Amino acid sequence: MDYQAYLKSEHWKRRKERSLKLAGHKCQLCGKRYCELHVHHLNYDRLGCETDTDLAALCKTCHWFFHSWIFREMLERLAEHDHYNPTPEVRDGQAEGK
Ligand SMILES: [Zn+2]
Ligand SMILES: [Zn+2]
Repeated sequence: MDYQAYLKSEHWKRRKERSLKLAGHKCQLCGKRYCELHVHHLNYDRLGCETDTDLAALCKTCHWFFHSWIFREMLERLAEHDHYNPTPEVRDGQAEGK
């Protein structure tokens, strides 16, 4: 199944709802609530059978950041310099607290 078709499937709809619920219906990066939330794939290794840690609930703005070229380049540069680890909460899917 191609990715666009997958995003329209019932399976993904359920998967997405679960992710939003786990995130407490707030953005896992900035904590914003009551806004349009997107479910972002942190990796595509298990497409179709994602685990909770493969996905992150993000607001529109943070989602845009994740996909923006500047942001990615910035993270890459930081990683080169001092083994900077981008957003562990999001990576490990633990958005509790803060
Ligand atoms: Zn956000
Ligand atoms: Zn995304």
